Amino acid sequence: MSQTVCQRVAIITGGGSGIGLATGELLLEQGWKVALLDRDDAALAEARRGLERHAAHVRTDAVDVTDAAEIERVVAAIHDSFGIIKGVVASAGVGADVPFLETSVESFRRINDINVTGTFIVAKAAAARMRANGGGGIVTIASVSGLTGNIGRTAYGASKGAVINMTRVMAVELARYNIRANCVAPGPVETPLVKTMHTQAVRKQWHERVPMERYGTPLEIAEAAAFLIDGDRSSYLTGQIIAVDGGFMACGINDRSRQ
Ligand code: NAD
Repeated sequence: MSQTVCQRVAIITGGGSGIGLATGELLLEQGWKVALLDRDDAALAEARRGLERHAAHVRTDAVDVTDAAEIERVVAAIHDSFGIIKGVVASAGVGADVPFLETSVESFRRINDINVTGTFIVAKAAAARMRANGGGGIVTIASVSGLTGNIGRTAYGASKGAVINMTRVMAVELARYNIRANCVAPGPVETPLVKTMHTQAVRKQWHERVPMERYGTPLEIAEAAAFLIDGDRSSYLTGQIIAVDGGFMACGINDRSRQ
């Protein structure tokens, strides 16, 4: 592996758990240095233990993505002392499954602040360094709930729809700096987030609606993110939203009893 490849740094928010952690691990295996950012210190400590074999290429920072000043400080520190920032995966996010009429303004604001404003803050701070470094890749993590009207996803779906269109704007504006921006929109994925959100009844609904009849794994989402962040592999790909969802977004009438 060349020294240059080893020095590429990817910043991953939500890197302490689930999709973010799986993406970090995969990128390490693909020769990147990885900065895992998460507000959950215990999750980061656990992640560090799991990634011990890559210790020289991993750094972790406990930070909240909604804190613009702290994110700026951490991204500057990564730039100054860890390596050349060539990509960011914005995976930090929270969800809720609440009916529209029961969604509180407070919850709506909190979810949008983390999922939308947090993604904006981190992508902007990283893009400023990538512009100075000759380019890079931004990968946002939205959801199929940002592409279609899933029940109970008033705040979450609104936030992910916003992330999707912000990704398109970043792609258009940042292309001149050789910075690409793409979005992965996962279907249901077995992660700690889903364990708290999905009841048995909800699980049954997804199994009925997803043509592949199963949840995805964090690694299956990470594979798409790792491809999209990497300018050597997806150099002409920008502004795209890729649903990694077992066929959910492609599915119309799906009465299995007729087959
Ligand atoms: P997860 O809960 O396992 O991981 C999310 C991580 O984000 C956690 O470690 C959490 O501490 C961190 N985080 C939350 N708020 C933060 C903040 N303000 N600042 C810093 N870190 C913060 O969840 P996951 O399933 O891996 O979700 C990752 C992303 O994928 C989220 O954006 C989620 O909306 C999206 N997504 C997940 C699924 C799914 O089924 N799991 C489906 C579609 C989209």
